[in-house]
Amino acid sequence: MKNILPSPLQYKNNHLTFDGKRLDTIAKKLKTPFYLYSKKTLRHYYGNFQKTALSNEIPSPLICYALKANSNDKILSLLKSMGSGADVVSGGELKKALKAGIDPQKIVFSGVAKTSEEISFALSCGKKGIYSFNVESIEELELINKIAKKLKRQARVAFRLNPKVSAKTHKHISTGNKTHKFGLLKEDILEAIDVKEFWSNTTLVGLSIHIGSQLTELNATIKAIAELSKLALSIDVPLEFLDVGGGLGIDYTAEEKIKLASIDTYMKTVSQALEKYYYSKTEHCPRVVFEPGRILVGKMGVLVSRVVRTKVSDNCHFTIVDAGMNDLIRPALYEAYHEVLPETKSNKNLTTDIVGPICETADCFGVKRKLPKLTSGDLVVIDNAGAYGHTMASRYNERDIAHEIVL
Ligand SMILES: *Cc1c(COP(=O)(O)O)cnc(C)c1O
Repeated sequence: MKNILPSPLQYKNNHLTFDGKRLDTIAKKLKTPFYLYSKKTLRHYYGNFQKTALSNEIPSPLICYALKANSNDKILSLLKSMGSGADVVSGGELKKALKAGIDPQKIVFSGVAKTSEEISFALSCGKKGIYSFNVESIEELELINKIAKKLKRQARVAFRLNPKVSAKTHKHISTGNKTHKFGLLKEDILEAIDVKEFWSNTTLVGLSIHIGSQLTELNATIKAIAELSKLALSIDVPLEFLDVGGGLGIDYTAEEKIKLASIDTYMKTVSQALEKYYYSKTEHCPRVVFEPGRILVGKMGVLVSRVVRTKVSDNCHFTIVDAGMNDLIRPALYEAYHEVLPETKSNKNLTTDIVGPICETADCFGVKRKLPKLTSGDLVVIDNAGAYGHTMASRYNERDIAHEIVL
């Protein structure tokens, strides 16, 4: 079954449009490269995620959007207005989430290196601090307890379980195996629960997992939920939530368009796995927390660039554009595929490498792509750049950070 995820980009009369507006008109007065985001598309994905959680009978779902995918202020405000919470991995992201008006009681804090300063801040925001510290080591738990005691607060914590599964994704974005730095092993969690002095100012309210990103099939997710459930059943503490993490992928490639699990399939899978391994075996009914990033924002954004010039070296043809790996590092870092589309549709009679201005051979958006012949000033669009684009941008080669335009 063809699984087409809605996108704001469409060709109309051979010209690219974004949310129905001509791209050349949008770009006319703007300096390239720039990111372009569609609120309409974001509304679609968030709405769909929430709706399918409810229709698959997930108990009191809480969607904690993973800010690291895209932390644009307007995007965060829109997510907040739709009821989203946040998954943050630094004090900086926590501040951004709060600035967007997200209730601290909808914020979970993940990450292996939370500092004393970040922990104090997260404990002090709002009346009760944040919803949960998703704890990734015993040392972290001890530190949270110590700081909470000093601040006369009670910290809400969840253990992030390392379920020892291998997610089928790029090795740089797989996080759920014991060789990865993330999460705690089951035996270490059980041991920590029995150490009284860790719990004077902390309360165990949940358990979490997050096994990787850009997941297209869900076998590892089912296994991880089974492990999470086993652990939840083996502890006496009544939990408020089970956090199943994020990770659902989008269709960057034609192959992924066919095999990618849809949001509905994902929700059904999560719901059935939780029912089978957990809810059917207990009286307790903790709510479910989700931490989606890419699936909510990936499709809503593109990177708009202009051709600087073309170049021929013997039998190699290069189309050199003004966007580089400092703007969008995914191809260089993860060997990720992004579709590159010319503003004007015409015969794709040329095989060319699309490369950027950075002095690195890895600064390449596509190898041996079929494109029409382009010349200086022509617009090209790098598609599916809403997630892990701008948030990973750097100033390498003393370049400016690309602007973000939200339509
Ligand atoms: C990155 C991350 C996410 C979001 O991952 P996506 O693949 O973008 O959905 C969720 N939870 C944690 C802990 C993360 O580190």
